[in-house]
Amino acid sequence: MVNHPFLSLNAGIDMPQVGLGVWKTPPEKTTSIVRYALNAGYLAVDTASIYGNEEGVGEALVDRPEIFLTTKLWNADQGFDSTLRAFEESARKLRRDVIDLYLIHWPVPKKHLYVETWRAMIRLRDEGRVRAIGVSNFTAEQITALIAETGTTPAINQIELHPEFQQHSLRDFHKQHGILTEAWSPLGQGQTLSNPVIEAIAKKHERTAAQIIIRWHIQNQFVVIPKSVTPSRLDENLAVFDFRLDGEDMAAIGRLDRANGRIGPDPMTADF
Ligand code: NAD
Repeated sequence: MVNHPFLSLNAGIDMPQVGLGVWKTPPEKTTSIVRYALNAGYLAVDTASIYGNEEGVGEALVDRPEIFLTTKLWNADQGFDSTLRAFEESARKLRRDVIDLYLIHWPVPKKHLYVETWRAMIRLRDEGRVRAIGVSNFTAEQITALIAETGTTPAINQIELHPEFQQHSLRDFHKQHGILTEAWSPLGQGQTLSNPVIEAIAKKHERTAAQIIIRWHIQNQFVVIPKSVTPSRLDENLAVFDFRLDGEDMAAIGRLDRANGRIGPDPMTADF
């Protein structure tokens, strides 16, 4: 593998820029898929308590403490004490005393618990149980509230981000505050792969559509966590460090942004 890039978190640690996402990876297949990915050269895994596969991830990583591991606190566990309890449960399933990155999965503004939850995340970091803490699906206003209430800025915000939904204003806010942007559903859940602009760029570079999109994320300095359960695609999605998109390619993909390009739930109204 050529030069796997890392990005620096404000917590003073580095994280691999490309990781394996395991949402919808069936629990009984998770260990073998994650093991395959590690052998292929993946250095990071993104899971969540709600994915139901933390045990499978933990099993695959048992001899690989150097692999950068992210998990997320589920909405039902928001609140100070319940966050501390949920963390212990995740750490047990993942078989790690220390988790690299712990995220609040969704803000769920209706619950009014995300600031209290953030205080528990800070406690976990101060106690050395997590190396870095962050959020997912938060707006600029919600992050501003966390900073104002606690003085602690999230290291990262993991958000829906792909060529058809580019989140420019939130990315600008992250940049101003030294927060990394992490892209979920980076391939638009597979839908963006058949976009003719992406296909044309793929042809030009003799690469696949998935590789072009992952490369676009990398060159934008996002952390990117494409998901696949297919070995050949896991290999393909990591073979992205030996070519570059040029300015014209980046501009053409930039023009694919659509105001209504969101695929997943809107974080302002999601209250599952
Ligand atoms: P994705 O954009 O990574 O797309 C995955 C799908 O694309 C696969 O199921 C497969 O159908 C297809 N695919 C992948 N590689 C391919 C290839 N090389 N060729 C052809 N098709 C390919 O979608 P995702 O799984 O929604 O997102 C990735 C990860 O982001 C998740 O696994 C999860 O870890 C994370 N995520 C987080 C949140 C959140 O709320 N924080 C929400 C959704 C996803």
